[in-house]
Amino acid sequence: DPTADSTGDPPAVELDGVTKRYGDTAAVDDVSLAVREGEFFTLVGPSGCGKTTTLRLIAGFEEPTAGEIRFAGDSVAGVPPEERDVGVVFQNYALFPHMTVGENVGYGLNFADPPEGVSRDERVAELLELVDLPDAADRDPESLSGGQQQRVAMARALAPGPDLLLLDEPMSALDARLRERLRVQVRKIQSELSITTVYVTHDQEEALAISDRVAVMRDGTPEQIAPPRTVYREPSSRFVAEFVGDNNVFAGRVVDVEGGEAGDGGGADDAESNDTPRIAAVDVGGETLRVAVGEGVGVEPGDRLTFCVRPEYLRIDEGESRVLATVESAEFLGETTRVTLDWGGRDLVVRTRDPLSGEVVVGFDPEDAHLIGSDGA
Ligand code: ATP
Repeated sequence: DPTADSTGDPPAVELDGVTKRYGDTAAVDDVSLAVREGEFFTLVGPSGCGKTTTLRLIAGFEEPTAGEIRFAGDSVAGVPPEERDVGVVFQNYALFPHMTVGENVGYGLNFADPPEGVSRDERVAELLELVDLPDAADRDPESLSGGQQQRVAMARALAPGPDLLLLDEPMSALDARLRERLRVQVRKIQSELSITTVYVTHDQEEALAISDRVAVMRDGTPEQIAPPRTVYREPSSRFVAEFVGDNNVFAGRVVDVEGGEAGDGGGADDAESNDTPRIAAVDVGGETLRVAVGEGVGVEPGDRLTFCVRPEYLRIDEGESRVLATVESAEFLGETTRVTLDWGGRDLVVRTRDPLSGEVVVGFDPEDAHLIGSDGA
């Protein structure tokens, strides 16, 4: 069973063929996914792809049109939000302004008893400690920064000791620096509690930074569900490659496929495989580039093929496949400069330390290009 974790327990949250329609629109379209116990799972994707609706279905604010949602193996159909043991934090989950921070957090306890042997005040103090605001109990929420307010909102959501934490763009109202700090804190709080968390963001960088696994959504359906590294380095589709990171996605025609024969004692016999790696020679706009072909990927001469090369794998005047390109624009980012090049009408993005100008030769090795598919879908 691919949805059970290694312990064989049912997943903490499971969506099984879940669809939510509003009139003719399927906001969520036949989604099946499983979130493991203790996992930080993120739904990421462009506006309107169904992230919030998915989260609202899990929270119980909406019921699916079709399909089933299970918590730890049990259907939650018809179970109202307050009985689902979920803590929810929204983008602008305003704190109650007429209550102190401590009272706000304590409000979360109105729906549940504090753990045995712990007083209400102790529990509030514990929660404020957890979100790193130990001295804020008597303060007015409005005297806190946006990031601090969101941490109080998190403490309030966590007060009843929910099994599941649902966060919908909790940082999107904050400025970039605050978001970066807060996401580290959110992740730390989540790991300390080992609480299963479903997080919604449209920010791919945030998703990669914070998650154990990411579901990249498109038109109501996850297009790829995988750990951040995999989504980034081995995007399963052109859409994922373009949504996550700088794209450098190219389509070409396979002119030749080399290698792939069983090793004959010479050549490649490292621990991984006895096969020589297959390399596809791909024609892109009249230039031939060499791209490694993953195991099990069928590629024949004549096929159309799509691949991506992340900017940090592109090198200047180095690499097996090289192309000539012209600098179009550069953004200084501090540690690196992100340079957009024009390569025969295609954008090619590189990151460099040294400034570039005019014409440059850019190259990469076959294994640094990731094959997306033979149809470019
Ligand atoms: P955003 O990042 O902009 O919030 P999202 O990925 O969270 O987007 P949803 O809010 O889940 O997307 O919306 C998915 C689709 O469903 C959109 O086309 C939206 O217009 C539609 N939709 C969502 N809620 C409703 C509703 N209550 N009534 C009608 N249509 C809705």
